[in-house]
Amino acid sequence: MGLTGIQIFKLLPKTNCKECGYPTCLAFAMALATGKADLDSCPYVSDEAKAQLAEASAPPVRPIQVGTGNRSFKLGGETVLFRHEKTFLGPPGLGVLVTSDTDEGTLAEKLKVWNTFQFERVGLTLRPELVALKDSNGDSRKFAALAQKVVDESDFCLVLMSNDISTMKAGIDASIERRPVIYAATKDNVDDMGGLAKEKGLPLAVKADDMDGLMGLTDKLTDMGVKDLILDTGSRTVRRAFEDQIWLRREAIMKKNRALGFPTITFPCEMADNLDKETVIAAMFIAKYAGIIILSDLIGESLFPLLVQRLNIYTDPQRPMAVEQGIYEINGPGENSPVCITTNFSLTYFIVSSEIEASRVPTWLLIMDTEGLSVMTAWAAGKFVGDAVGMFVNKCGILDKVKHKKLIISGYAAAISGDLEEEVKGSEVLVGPRDAAQIPKFLKEYAA
Ligand code: SF4
Repeated sequence: MGLTGIQIFKLLPKTNCKECGYPTCLAFAMALATGKADLDSCPYVSDEAKAQLAEASAPPVRPIQVGTGNRSFKLGGETVLFRHEKTFLGPPGLGVLVTSDTDEGTLAEKLKVWNTFQFERVGLTLRPELVALKDSNGDSRKFAALAQKVVDESDFCLVLMSNDISTMKAGIDASIERRPVIYAATKDNVDDMGGLAKEKGLPLAVKADDMDGLMGLTDKLTDMGVKDLILDTGSRTVRRAFEDQIWLRREAIMKKNRALGFPTITFPCEMADNLDKETVIAAMFIAKYAGIIILSDLIGESLFPLLVQRLNIYTDPQRPMAVEQGIYEINGPGENSPVCITTNFSLTYFIVSSEIEASRVPTWLLIMDTEGLSVMTAWAAGKFVGDAVGMFVNKCGILDKVKHKKLIISGYAAAISGDLEEEVKGSEVLVGPRDAAQIPKFLKEYAA
């Protein structure tokens, strides 16, 4: 971040050989400066220039990979303060606290329940990612046994929380395959925790009571070669913690303060006396700007809204969510089954397909690429008009799968029926309901 096209140009070979796909080195430099090109596209950049450019182009909030497997996730990588400027990139990990005085059987029961919290929405699986295991009694064997249990009986990633280095080592040995986060380096143990994080190649949380303390620790750790850091400002009141999150993000993005350019970890579980309040605090942290959020428990009614909120905030506001164009078979259609056509806006697809599924009528659903626009918007934008839809029907292969040419379109697209019939020779276009809830009734009547 921060280098202009001209500054980048000065570091390039200036031979204009075009191998990067750009006509000149200057054009390539300009594309790099705006994030449209990848430095690796030029095979002739010197190692020294590469190092300078990589450092300069690193995002102001360091991206950090947490965990392994199904629930692993990437924190940070953010480049803006507001999502209308550019998509937020690193959705916060949601986790639950377990203290080391928890009975192993109780943890197993809890994991069984937490494992079930996986929600399908617009084609994505939403789920929490973490168990934060907190050393509450200094019993390193128990700590390791619980870490092992999480590994054996779930695919949750782990945050290991202990001030004691031998307890931390025991927990890491039991769960190294999950690449746990070490929590936390403080002024009292920074050398030990930093050394351990470096030796094991693990992300390390850093905790201090104020920003100067945090900067001192992150400077020291980065000098030691530990770069995957996660910040805890130590604040446990809502107001202070909220202000800290914003202050940290501003320091990283507006002031390019590398010492604070790391994702954060937050603990609503230590900021409220009941899960409802924790959930509200967690919702605040999803919006502003936590990297990891730890709750005292996971229950569906608080977790689901948080997962959906996270999904909504961390999707590109300028690009509608879309599904792939193609022919979708619902309820096992055959050559006489109805053929419905709609657009590839995710919400449209999932609403229409679930209503068709509910109707139990075997149906072909044709999804046309309208760049993620809904039927009405796509029609108004000229992307879901008779000749375009007709061309798609003719080419997609559906006419080889059915014996008829009856095509069902949404009531919102009634205006295209004439043009569509003209484009698909011999077809009959039926106008379906506007309201998706009426689809089952419509299809059942069609099939009767
Ligand atoms: Fe210049 Fe490198 Fe592109 Fe060649 S490949 S034009 S040297 S930037």
